Amino acid sequence: MTKLYIAVPCYNEEEVLPDSSARLFDRMNRLIDGGMITPDSRIVFIDDGSTDRTWELIEKLHAHHPMFCGIKLSRNRGHQNALMAGLMTLKDEADAVISIDADLQDDIEVFDEMLCKLDEGCDVVYGVRSKRDTDTFFKRFTAEGYYKILEKMGAKVIFNHADFRLMSRRALQAFAQYGEVNLFLRGMVPLVGYRSDIVTYERSERLAGESKYPLKKMLSLAWEGITSLSTKPIKFVTRLGLIIFLISIVMLLYFFIRFLCGATVTGWASLAVSIWAIGGLQLLAIGIIGEYIGKIYLETKRRPRYIIETYLKD
Ligand code: UDP
Ligand code: MG
Repeated sequence: MTKLYIAVPCYNEEEVLPDSSARLFDRMNRLIDGGMITPDSRIVFIDDGSTDRTWELIEKLHAHHPMFCGIKLSRNRGHQNALMAGLMTLKDEADAVISIDADLQDDIEVFDEMLCKLDEGCDVVYGVRSKRDTDTFFKRFTAEGYYKILEKMGAKVIFNHADFRLMSRRALQAFAQYGEVNLFLRGMVPLVGYRSDIVTYERSERLAGESKYPLKKMLSLAWEGITSLSTKPIKFVTRLGLIIFLISIVMLLYFFIRFLCGATVTGWASLAVSIWAIGGLQLLAIGIIGEYIGKIYLETKRRPRYIIETYLKD
């Protein structure tokens, strides 16, 4: 039997927490009754510095039943860091940890299947959405396009998998060796290796409250993913520079031949345009390289990814 921990990052989730906790509790009890997990399995909420009553609710749940535990971060650090805090705190306590969002958009009924795959010897089981009916056209289009771009950039990501996955203790302990502070978990987990498999499910709508991932945060996560997993953008810039340089040589030759033929080059427009074009490209190139230097800067500081204020257990 598996000692299963569920890690649930929560940021201002007072609206969904009562309902999600009840559903998770019921689900865990069914698994315990079915003999799939041990009775000392836990549901652990990670409060990512919420400003509403989220932590209060977690404390109440913990007082109500020992199955509920809570980790309180000292301030808001974002979904990826909160999840990492959970996984790293639980890695030595559980046999396996399933991470899932607080709004339970991911299907808790596939826990069974995940546990079966674990028994079959998989160390990582990815939850993959079969359909995206509940997403808006815009989100579906951008998300699926994004996964394809990531793949082109050479990153190993599981198509249509977000952060709903099961990891065994062994996988978590290997994962703990990744010390980077710029986190994009769904791209990092496949790097660990070990046997893995997927389970598919239909993603439902958020139970209540609103998305804690506004467009701005989503774009920043997307950019994080590309720059954390791939150095292709830098290589692209180098290649672009080379091509433009070659074009300028061709242009130079052309104008020189025209000059020899006696036709003077008139028009400063082409000149002005090329100055602007090259200038803009250079700035862009420096900007992209700067992004990476910024990352190196953050990594070399080795700041903690999160600070745990309280850990409510047993
Ligand atoms: N979340 C978090 N910290 C943040 C933002 C979000 O821990 O700064 C959590 C949030 O509570 C939820 C999960 O990340 O459990 C995913 O957020 P959400 O469901 O709003 O994202 P969406 O499903 O809309 O992409
Ligand atoms: Mg959600």
